Amino acid sequence: MDYLFEAVALGIDAIAFGAAYHMFQFKKSAIKSIENVQYIDIDGKLLDHVSSQPGKKLDYVVVRGKVKALSSPIRSQNAVNTFGVVQKFTTKEHLVTRHNFGFWSERERIIQEVYNSIPFALQNGNVDIEVADALSAYYLDLETISDVYEPSSGSFFDFIWGFFTGVRPQGLQKTEEMVREGVLMTGIGELALSEDQGSLRLQPSQDGLPFFLTSMPISTLSKKLESEKQTFKYLSIILGILGLGLAGMMAHRYCRQWINKRKEEEQARRREQTRKERRQRARPGEELPDSQLCIVCRENPKEVVLLPCGHVCICEDCSEDISDLCPVCRAEILSRNPAYIS
Ligand SMILES: [Zn+2]
Ligand SMILES: [Zn+2]
Repeated sequence: MDYLFEAVALGIDAIAFGAAYHMFQFKKSAIKSIENVQYIDIDGKLLDHVSSQPGKKLDYVVVRGKVKALSSPIRSQNAVNTFGVVQKFTTKEHLVTRHNFGFWSERERIIQEVYNSIPFALQNGNVDIEVADALSAYYLDLETISDVYEPSSGSFFDFIWGFFTGVRPQGLQKTEEMVREGVLMTGIGELALSEDQGSLRLQPSQDGLPFFLTSMPISTLSKKLESEKQTFKYLSIILGILGLGLAGMMAHRYCRQWINKRKEEEQARRREQTRKERRQRARPGEELPDSQLCIVCRENPKEVVLLPCGHVCICEDCSEDISDLCPVCRAEILSRNPAYIS
């Protein structure tokens, strides 16, 4: 229990550090795989070229072409004459919530996220490359088509309800995003011959390399990944230092407690030792009259005065076992002191 706060903080820090470091490594390997990627010209010879490869595929390549729907395109709900191949609706709730300390702060929560997509291709000249599994892409660049914010009514009832629950809704944000037809996109992934052998398909790599579908040219993509890599690098460093600091603080506290405990034990041992020595000096042995012997053990001399009743009736050894009532008058013992009978 002593270290609960530090242990929880260290646990959270370790998880965050793990996540940040994992992202750093991922970005690093993504940048590396993009550096080694093969650029492919989409032209009439490409189909024959892929067919001649072992496994009839090219492992990790870049293709760039215009987005072309392979069935009837999706119509935008909010913009006229806008058609696309991937559509995403997001509904976000904006709230203010009360914290334990009594202040309120704003936050948002995604309450709905819906994707629609149809088969599409990247087209260059007369050649189409079908894109498979687009929604699994690591970056899937979507264009915002509409972004509407509807404030909530804010009735008196809401106000009262919010006071008790600690949550006040502020409004809803509804966003429509699309991959529009005709935009130029860069796809990075595995290029393979489709099942019917007559066309080409870009799909996620089987080697676990990241699959990208982005409107950015590859140099911009590299720069973006590089800056994200740096962010995660610094985040890892900060979280790492924080974790070491926390662990150091815990170790320091543990050491201090251990040293204090040892000191206390040592002091108790010394007290016990001096008490024994004093008693040995004070005990003249067999010569003591009966009236001066402890009434409990009848062996040691009477050595302790019980307060507030003032009875001197027991020895120090017996006094350790008698804590509540005086054995003579049954008065409550509030304190005890050594007594010197001469
Ligand atoms: Zn005794
Ligand atoms: Zn008494």
